[in-house]
Amino acid sequence: MEGMPVIKERNLHPQFYRRVKMLPGGEKIEACIQCGTCSGSCPSSHTMDYTPRKLIAMIRAGMEEEVLKSKAIWMCASCYSCKARCPRGIAITDLMYTLKNIAMASGCGHKLAGPVFYGTFNRMVEKEGRINEGKFIVTFTLKTDPFKIIGMAPLGMKMLAKRRLPLKATAIKNKEEFRKILARIREAGI
Ligand code: SF4
Ligand code: SF4
Repeated sequence: MEGMPVIKERNLHPQFYRRVKMLPGGEKIEACIQCGTCSGSCPSSHTMDYTPRKLIAMIRAGMEEEVLKSKAIWMCASCYSCKARCPRGIAITDLMYTLKNIAMASGCGHKLAGPVFYGTFNRMVEKEGRINEGKFIVTFTLKTDPFKIIGMAPLGMKMLAKRRLPLKATAIKNKEEFRKILARIREAGI
């Protein structure tokens, strides 16, 4: 886990803090007292480059690029421990989703599996209305670690034999209606 990155004042973006405050999870971050209860409760913090407490401090400092490129937001397991225990009622789990959304929308993707996973998932759901496990695993693995496919083949064959891995992608009915729902969600900025 890293300490706070050193950054020059001219590279700070106070508008990023103002923006996050308007979005789900960001409403109360002004009230954070930096007590660290969230970080101490987080089962994933050892895998993060910045703990939840540090991320909040970085948002408030306007460290947009560092926050959006951080590994931490993709390592959140959505367990809600931090949200349940925060003495200031800050919805940190929701904030993590908000940061993921901003990072994806701003093209702040990096080579971590997290953004690739979400991107692959979103595109498949948008297209078919649901996830096809076999297609998803193959697409995701090819994008992140293509050689892993070879090692996965024996397990895939076993699953195919037991009909646990459908190869044919099936779409939901009324895909157009579903797409309208997604469009409404986007319009609402959720
Ligand atoms: S638990 Fe709440 S108040 Fe304490 S550092 Fe985390 S977000 Fe801030
Ligand atoms: S919701 Fe995410 S950030 Fe919060 S404690 Fe769980 S893993 Fe950590």
